[in-house]
Formats: sequence, structure tokens, C-alpha cells
Amino acid sequence: MKPLCRLRFAAKNLSRYLSLLSLRQATASISVLLLTTLGCGSAFQNINVLSESDEIALGREFSREIEREIKLFTDPEVVRYVDELGQTLVRHSKRSNLQYYIKVVDTDEVNAFALPGGFLYVNRGLISLANTESELAGVISHEIGHVVGRHGAKALTRQLGLEIVLGMISGRNSTGVQRVASQLAGIGGILSMLHYSREAEREADALAVENLREAGYDPDGVSAFFEKLLEINDREPGALALLFSTHPPSRERIDQTRKQIAGLPVLDGLITDSERFHQIKSRLPPLKKNPLDNEVPTGQ
Ligand SMILES: [Zn+2]
Repeated sequence: MKPLCRLRFAAKNLSRYLSLLSLRQATASISVLLLTTLGCGSAFQNINVLSESDEIALGREFSREIEREIKLFTDPEVVRYVDELGQTLVRHSKRSNLQYYIKVVDTDEVNAFALPGGFLYVNRGLISLANTESELAGVISHEIGHVVGRHGAKALTRQLGLEIVLGMISGRNSTGVQRVASQLAGIGGILSMLHYSREAEREADALAVENLREAGYDPDGVSAFFEKLLEINDREPGALALLFSTHPPSRERIDQTRKQIAGLPVLDGLITDSERFHQIKSRLPPLKKNPLDNEVPTGQ
């Protein structure tokens, strides 16, 4: 990409965001100018312009911010198990050069998310809901897939513009950066900014299937877990607005995943489940409300 083009793109996003911050008057003329001279087209939609070290710095910054709000689950057996499972998958992933930090969040809520640069979080509630080790491995692989595809960095750069993202990393004292940083403060703001495109979700699913097979796990774990999330959504429409807000499952995604698996050569000896996974699950506190419990009140 030409430097001038890159600058224009960043400036366009900056002006768009400043407009959202009620500075429309000040930026309107810049926007018009940029719209008339831009000419860079939609090729920017998926371009990631952050370097790997920028991406890691951004992820580290977000993880600090997020960990002020969440409570981590500290049972050493559980923490070690999830980390070992995750690191096994990382070793067989397409971005194994990064250091991944995989942590368990102490909440019933069923969710998992990845920040740019290899910071992964898996909620305790999600582990409880998984029936087999390959289902849990499928979700973790999907999150690794977002790191492999640099989806978080791409989403942020697309939404905020390169200058603001770089400013956030360097802590540069500019008003625009400060305002955006304060808007992003907290887990809700960060996760909503990391909202991935459908294309990114499909890529993470496909990478997860490959990753599982490479690591010796049954790739059906990916579709089996997302099937479960879809079932929760069918039972209680809207429930998934809170769960998996960064990557809601869909029938189309599950079908696509199953099709991909069906097209792969059969491999013997893939791991579906393990005794250790169930030992770990038994260490978790019971969910206050299991979203898959079939407790339909009678007489209604
Ligand atoms: Zn996702």
C-alpha cells in the first residue's frame, strides 16, 4: 500500500470517529476532501496495518483493562488443564510463533474471546457446557483462529483508523485518542469494537477444523459445540445476545463446518474425549442455570 493512501485511509476513519464524538462541524470539510481524493476503494476492508509487536502491545493493553473487570478462575488444576490444552492446539496452529496467554474467567456465562496478539479467555460456564474435550478444544481453536487471522487487529483498525489504534498503544496524549480510549474502556467497549465480520467467523471456523485435526482431535467438536449454542438461542431467542456476542453461531456456519469435515480424508485415532476433561469439569461449581436444561413449566 502506498504511504499516502494509507494516511488518507487513517484520516478518513479518524474523521468519521471524531464525527461520532460530536465534532462533526470541525471534520465535515476534511471528510468531503477525503471522500473526493480517497480513491483507495474497498481493498482496505480487510487490511491489517499493525505490526505484530503493535498487535501484541494492543492485546496486552486490552487484557489489562479487561482483567480489572473480570474475575479469573484460579483453581490451579483447571487453569493448568485449559492452558495445556490450548498450548497443544497453538503448537499445531498457523501462528505458533506467538506467546499465547490462555485464562479461565470465573463466570457462569457461556463465552470465550480472543484479544489481538494471543490473549485468550475461556469462561468457566463454557467449560461446564461442553460435553467432550473436543468440544472445548473446538472453541479454543476457533479463538486461536481469530488470532491467526489477525481479526481483532483488523476490526479495530477498520473501525478506528490506524492513527488512533497506534496512539492507544503508545499512550500518545491526543484528545481524540483519549476520548476513544475512554469509550473503549472496559470489557463491553473492547468486545464490541472486536466485532468480527461473517467472513472472519467463517475463517476462524475453518482454521479451527484444521487445527483440531493437526493436533489429533476430532474436528466435529467445532460443529458440536456451536450446535449447542444454536439450540440455546432457539430455546430462548435473544439469550445469545449476551453469550458469544463477538461471534454468534448460525446454521449456515455449522453446515459449512460439517461440509468441510466431510470433505477431509478420514483419520484414525482422533481424540473426542478424555477422562481428565471430566475430572476438570467436576472441579467446577455447578451452573446456577444450565441453559440446556429442559425445564419447561407444565400447564402452560
Ligand atoms: Zn468467533
